[in-house]
Amino acid sequence: MTRATDLRLHFAELVVFHIVSFLFQVAKRLERFKTTIFTQMSMLAIKHGAINLGQGFPNFDGPEFVKEAAIQAIKDGKNQYARGYGVPDLNAAVTARFKIDTGLVVDPEKEVTVTSGCTEAIAATILGLINPGDEVILFAPFYDSYEATLSMAGAKIKCVKLRPPDFSVPIAELKSTISKNTRAILINTPHNPTGKMFTRDELNVIASLCIENDVLVFTDEVYDKLAFEMDHISMASLPGMYERTVTMNSLGKTFSLTGWKIGWAIAPPHLTWGVRQAHSFLTFATSTPMQYAAATALQTPDSYYEELKRDYMAKKTILVEGLKAVGFTVFPSSGTYFVVVDHTPFGLESDVAFCEYLIKEVGVVAIPTSVFYLNPEDGKNLVRFTFCKDEGTLRSAVERMKDKLLRK
Ligand code: GLN
Repeated sequence: MTRATDLRLHFAELVVFHIVSFLFQVAKRLERFKTTIFTQMSMLAIKHGAINLGQGFPNFDGPEFVKEAAIQAIKDGKNQYARGYGVPDLNAAVTARFKIDTGLVVDPEKEVTVTSGCTEAIAATILGLINPGDEVILFAPFYDSYEATLSMAGAKIKCVKLRPPDFSVPIAELKSTISKNTRAILINTPHNPTGKMFTRDELNVIASLCIENDVLVFTDEVYDKLAFEMDHISMASLPGMYERTVTMNSLGKTFSLTGWKIGWAIAPPHLTWGVRQAHSFLTFATSTPMQYAAATALQTPDSYYEELKRDYMAKKTILVEGLKAVGFTVFPSSGTYFVVVDHTPFGLESDVAFCEYLIKEVGVVAIPTSVFYLNPEDGKNLVRFTFCKDEGTLRSAVERMKDKLLRK
């Protein structure tokens, strides 16, 4: 492209930007955010008939017994507003599961808040506990809603970068970022998009820094049951940490029901107060019949989780081995249903350009990772694939890539 066309394009973009900002209004706190990358990519998948290994939603259904429980709850007339912080059965089921998973005994009435998915738990936690100007530390790459919600709260974001190949926590960098001015640190383990799981050593270091500097921990653990290469460890279970931690989780990933939007936040009463205040005015309460069904789901025996993991291991092998055979550098993923690869062997200049090419010319959707960084340049070599699809779909996607993607 010549410099003149380049400039013309840039000028055209500016004109479009100004027209758009004139027609569509948005408050400053959300100005810099676009339609989420997951929505954009899923729309493109439909438009181009591409296989969607982008947005993380299973293309298979959740278990029959959970769906039956929802239908039963509707038939039983559980259809009016639920108690704001959760129907008692679900609060109890959440605490029972938490005890099995972490050994911690918490009060279902005072320490659990049921929310509309973990995304609302994140929003209620941030809006309920963070003041404008408070410093909050994020590990980049990070899930897109963290930055948007912190921006809504007026927080000051500090970033610590996790780098390939193992995305381990850069301890020295973390130490120089955390201070008495830090109000909270947000962690996500197993981690979206990289599949990294925080090790006990890393969590211990983070914990001691948080205690030393009086920092809260908000921990998103929605992929805790998709832990393949190591055991999941909840930050709240570390000595001295429960008191300063909000643990967030949901039903969607574990039960392949991402559209139900049932989540929760577990925290000691003094932090639950803030979470509940925000939740009361965000959504007030969450879908009643789905909460009853969620309670049934959470009471399922451990064999369910073992089978889920076995299924996902098989899917993961198909995708990871397939991506390697296609020619990607595949970074190790210990948990989640995501895997991150380096796309540069194929010669495209950025993650976005690569994903566009992959959709239009190959017929497969992946997620460009630059949206998971404060500085998009940091993600320009990496793209994310998901393996939460049936085995046939994963195999077809690999075949398409083998046929049409050529190393430069
Ligand atoms: N959590 C899903 C993912 O990372 C996306 C959810 C959404 O579209 N907001 O793919």
